[in-house]
Amino acid sequence: FSNEAFLQKDVSSVDEKGFKGHDMLAPFTAGWQTMDVNPLVVEKSEGSYVYDTNGKKYLDALAGLWCTALGGNEQRLVAAATKQLSTLPFYHSFWNRTTKPSMDLAKEILEMFTASKMSKVFFTNSGSEANDSQVKLVWYYNNALGRPDKKKFIARAKSYHGSTLIAASLSGLPALHQKFDLPAPFVIHADTPHFWRYHLPGETEEEFSTRLANNLENLILKEGPETIAAFIAEPVMGAGGGVISIFSVYAQIQSVLKKYDILFIADEVICAFGRLGTMFGCDKYNIKPDLVSIAKALSSAYMPIGAVLVSPKVYDVIHSQSNKLGSFSHGFTYSGHPVACAVALETLKIYKERNILEMVNNIATKFQEGVKAYSSSPIIGEIRGTGLILGTEFTDNKSPHDAFPPEWGIGAYFGAQCEKHGMLIRVAGDSIMMSPPFIMNPEEVDELIEKFGKALRDTEERVAVLKSQ
Ligand code: PMP
Repeated sequence: FSNEAFLQKDVSSVDEKGFKGHDMLAPFTAGWQTMDVNPLVVEKSEGSYVYDTNGKKYLDALAGLWCTALGGNEQRLVAAATKQLSTLPFYHSFWNRTTKPSMDLAKEILEMFTASKMSKVFFTNSGSEANDSQVKLVWYYNNALGRPDKKKFIARAKSYHGSTLIAASLSGLPALHQKFDLPAPFVIHADTPHFWRYHLPGETEEEFSTRLANNLENLILKEGPETIAAFIAEPVMGAGGGVISIFSVYAQIQSVLKKYDILFIADEVICAFGRLGTMFGCDKYNIKPDLVSIAKALSSAYMPIGAVLVSPKVYDVIHSQSNKLGSFSHGFTYSGHPVACAVALETLKIYKERNILEMVNNIATKFQEGVKAYSSSPIIGEIRGTGLILGTEFTDNKSPHDAFPPEWGIGAYFGAQCEKHGMLIRVAGDSIMMSPPFIMNPEEVDELIEKFGKALRDTEERVAVLKSQ
């Protein structure tokens, strides 16, 4: 979240309708932008495309915010929402009252998640709420076990776990902390598992992985294992740059955590339901988590919904407290909202019927190989990705250590060129990310690759000009 702002000012076109500014305190947006720059106002979506209010068409290479897995106009989801809205638009799930769509959805999610045994699902409205709830669950669990000091969380630098108070604390991105008095003191950040950027000279991937596991163990020992409650990680890091872990990282991390009785929380908010070519990120990396957060593709973003999956290890302890401490006093008015659950149920049904993993894998190779073919560009340091997630890092001399001057705003410039050529991506400093919808067809993948190429040429030219000045 760095320099996109000032560059957008350079390149944004003036709205012919004369629209100027808006009144929202807009998320992850610079204040002056909302006043001085015409926003991109998206009006309509269709398959892999969105359209702005000027009728311009964009290939949505980020699937909204990594979420519209089924694209922009899946009528079965509209029908599921309409049907539920006209039968029971709302009822809650407090005090052992609930609704059928929420019970059915919990059952369906538990059947789909097979990486480790899970016994309950707690519904939230978002990924941030899911991760906030994780912290409360873990604290409740350790209080119940008579371990009041085992409360600290280890997350990873560059991770993104959301933006509520605790989720932002867990996140390892400085912009989420600065000026907000975060992170909270119980959160510690460990290494980012990004080999290209952080390996030592001559270090192999295996050695890198071992070093990270040793660092984690040393951190735990330094803090005191009796104080560390849980470790949270995205199987593939999204907002931190689309960082793909080496396979062995998770095996080594899990054995360290096990040794010190520390819970593993998998933040699957981006990875779950097929993005990596496996149903969950945990399946891909052989992670056996104690708790899981999901959201986004759960409803293909047609309704806001998230959830926490709770293993028997954690749930049984929570359950044992029902008689002593009373109810599990945590939840939201909209936990298990019936319309959101009905839409999510239909989404999962579609994933099954259309064999979503086959769909993803059918286009993933073309997507990965097509974009990675640009790796030789002199302004690209690394293109990394798996399945339908991909990160590109712009650096000078192809080195992780030679960043372009931040004021050049190279990542932001590339993002603006994509927009000019009719494609939307995610920019974070000089990293850019893509996570196309699962329904993209091969021709649309070709279009994505072509537009990436055009934006890259524009950006190479810009770098050449800036270097010559
Ligand atoms: N975890 C991860 C891995 C995410 O990518 C996100 C959102 N991008 C969140 C949590 C937070 O989800 P939400 O924005 O729905 O609160």
